[in-house]
This record gives sequence, C-alpha cells and structure tokens, in this order.
Amino acid sequence: MHYTGAMPVFVDAEAETWNIDVEKIVEKITNKTKVILPVSIFGHPCEFDKIHELAKKYNFKILEDAAESHGSEYKGLKTGSLADITAFSFFANKNITTGEGGMIVTDDEDLYNKCRYYKNLCFPLEGGRNYKHNDIGYNYRISNYRISNIHSAIGLAQVEKADEYRAMRIKNADIYKRELLDIEGISMQNTKDNVLHVHWMNGILINPEKYGRTRDELIQHLKENGIDTRLLFWGMNKQPSLIKYGCNCADEYPVSDNLYKNGLYLPSSSGLDEQSIIKICKIIRNYRKS
Ligand SMILES: *Cc1c(COP(=O)(O)O)cnc(C)c1O
Repeated sequence: MHYTGAMPVFVDAEAETWNIDVEKIVEKITNKTKVILPVSIFGHPCEFDKIHELAKKYNFKILEDAAESHGSEYKGLKTGSLADITAFSFFANKNITTGEGGMIVTDDEDLYNKCRYYKNLCFPLEGGRNYKHNDIGYNYRISNYRISNIHSAIGLAQVEKADEYRAMRIKNADIYKRELLDIEGISMQNTKDNVLHVHWMNGILINPEKYGRTRDELIQHLKENGIDTRLLFWGMNKQPSLIKYGCNCADEYPVSDNLYKNGLYLPSSSGLDEQSIIKICKIIRNYRKS
C-alpha cells in the first residue's frame, strides 16, 4: 500500500476465529475507503456475507488474502470465489507450494487486465512493446509475463495432491484439539459451522493465570524437548514499518494484542504423524502448573 499511496486502516481480530471482526469494520469506513483486505487466517475463511453486505453498501472492493487458505470453503463456496480478487501464496511453507510464487484469481475482467498491466512494468497490454510506460508498475513476473515452466510443473504436481494434503492437515488439527482443549489455560482457534477450515497452522493461546506458565516459558520448555514453535503474528498496529508510515496505530486492538502476546503455533506440517502430535501435547499438558 505504501507503493500505491494508500493508507491502511486496521480492524481488530475477533476472539473466536482470530479473523477480522466484521462487527468492527463499519466504524472504520470513511468516504476514502476503496478496498477491504480480509485475511483468512490459518485457513479459516472470514465472514464473507457480512463483508459483501458492507462492500455493496459502501461501494468498495474485496481483496482476500488467501495465502494460507487453499481449498477452504465458506458456506459451501470455495476460496477463490469469495472476493473480487483472491491472492494465494505458493511459498515453501504453504499448504501447496511451488517453492516461491503465488496466484491471484478474479472474475472481473478490468481487474484482471490491471493486474497483468501492473505486474509487467506497465508495458502497454495492446499494441506490442513501444517502451512507453503510462504508469509506474512492478516486475512481478518470474519469466516473461508469468510464473516459470519449472515452477508451474511443481505447482501442477502439488494440485494433484492438494486434497490429500488438506485432509492430512484437517486430521492433524482434530488430533491437536482432542489432546489439548481440555487443558486449563489453553485455547485454540475455533472453527465456525459454516466453513471448511484447512488448518495451515495449529495455533494455541495461553492464559498464563490459568496455565500457570507464560507463553515464553512454554516455548522454551518445548525447545528443550526438541520441539520448535513459532510466535503468532505481530498485529499490524505493532509493526514498526507501519507506525513509521503514519498509520493510525493508536486505537485499541485487544484481541490482536492478546494473540501476539500469548499465542504460538505448534508443528503443523501435513506429514506429521499422530504419535508425534500426542507427544507434543503430553509435554504441554504436563508442563501446566496448578
Ligand atoms: C505467506 C503469507 C503471505 C506472503 O506470501 P508470499 O508468497 O511469501 O508473498 C501473505 N499473507 C499471508 C497471510 C501469508 O501467510
């Protein structure tokens, strides 16, 4: 957005799904609002009906960040069909990957052509290369206009396995829930009834008073047992780059702040076996101090 001159405005997450809180969007809308960028976090689609309702009423576009959400569904509709533009990542750690790369999908021809234009240095779309650039664009092609043949070949092979990988991730998430959710002071991202959640990552949230240990103590303890973890994302309101850029970071974002302060995610690869998950969960259970 810095590149385009846009100014991002943040909306807090909601405590159940950790996605954008749709009840809090409306208070952030102004006559300058052009687009909303819901992130379907860890593969749980956002509450799109409500977002569409607002987009229609206030006349803005929806750009879904589905980098973590390949193959998820909202009310039976596949991610990729839920927004004006959907952006997928094929980075190495995503549900399916081409090593590096990504894809956007849209059913809006104007937006499609705009994307083609901007990703290729704003060379004219028609009439051949006259080396005249009417706008300032980007080089987002990997090789001539598109992702390379080698990346595409990897991607196609991944697509053949996409359903299998999705099933493995969902199964692993169910094992984590079964083994963790009765431990006092541990909670996880809740899955709403109207979605198919693809569980890119298995995040947990610590309540230090109830668990008797802090998030950082648990991370250290898991590390000593040979188990690596990652912090949950920093809130946008905490990002030094965005504060420097002049975003309004002063509002209150209590849910997001709590996630970054007390959250972590556990090993989540598709290929993790049940015994490993059970072992990780036992360590977490036994570490609780009552
Ligand atoms: C991974 C990720 C990105 C970035 O994807 P790249 O392919 O690395 O550009 C963006 N948003 C979310 C939510 C992600 O998880």
